[in-house]
Amino acid sequence: MKEKITPYLRSIAGSASVANQYNAGGSEPFSDDTYNDPLHEDDHEVVKGLVHKYSNRALIKVSYQCAAHCRFCTRIRQIGNAEGTLTDDNINNIVTYLHQHPEIDDVILSGGDPFYTAKLTYQLLQQLKVIHSIKVFRIGTRLPLQLPEAFQSDAIQLLLSLIDEIAKQRPFYILLHINHPDELTEQALEAIAMLRIHRVTLLSQTVFLKGINDSFETLHQLYTQLHHKGVIPYYLYHCDAVKGIQHFTVDIEKEKEIATQLTATLSGIAYPTYIIDIEDGHGKIPVPLNFINEASGKLTDFRNKEHEIK
Ligand SMILES: *Cc1c(COP(=O)(O)O)cnc(C)c1O
Ligand code: SF4
Repeated sequence: MKEKITPYLRSIAGSASVANQYNAGGSEPFSDDTYNDPLHEDDHEVVKGLVHKYSNRALIKVSYQCAAHCRFCTRIRQIGNAEGTLTDDNINNIVTYLHQHPEIDDVILSGGDPFYTAKLTYQLLQQLKVIHSIKVFRIGTRLPLQLPEAFQSDAIQLLLSLIDEIAKQRPFYILLHINHPDELTEQALEAIAMLRIHRVTLLSQTVFLKGINDSFETLHQLYTQLHHKGVIPYYLYHCDAVKGIQHFTVDIEKEKEIATQLTATLSGIAYPTYIIDIEDGHGKIPVPLNFINEASGKLTDFRNKEHEIK
């Protein structure tokens, strides 16, 4: 993976919290020793582009292309590589697999960024929408934060109209990857507002990143803003064990403390589930927060008062 950012991101790179996610101005170069597969996704890629790791859910990598390359990306080994782009044959094989596996009722389009390759995603969704065993659709994207002007393009407008059509019948979730309040510029908020008119439910996912968002104040501000804009925080991740990015990894105890404070202070629909997708493991594991005193077994409430569990 090579360094890549958009002109838009360069224009807001005065914020180190934005710039350092892409290593524009950071000190740690992209390097070849980062090419591992921390979540062992390749072992679960049952047909080209389709990762079937959890029984009822499938993740489809539409391509390996993104508008900008995040330094800490879990798929750093693939991002930017043209090989990942699904061909017509690949799509046919995916469709066949989904027909053969009606237990898959929840399909997640990811990548790469499915909105960055809007025409291809449109083509894929046209084929998926006729598979009735799929009850829930999701798309993971970072494009509103990386290239918000793209949401004016014909290709994305067409994709959004198809999403709208599917969303009339079946729940459609769009998961925004966002890590810092500085990413929520006026332009990004306009792109997010455009998504909201298309019947989708907006969710967000965030990665804990040292020096960028490993503080209660930063995340409290981020989640408050998302809450105000109709985005429901979904997952807050411990950084995956991608080689070469240890400088981003936050201490688990510190993360637990921050996630505990967030839970105690934000609206119930404005705090995410704090999880670890364990290296070479199975499952996004929710991390227990500091609401229980392990020694006494007592519960600590939001004002720090302890209570016996009756
Ligand atoms: C994260 C992920 C999912 C979805 O998991 P949820 O916990 O349902 O959001 C599905 N497949 C793969 C391979 C994943 O990494
Ligand atoms: S936008 Fe997502 S998939 Fe693309 S480089 Fe960043 S983290 Fe990876």
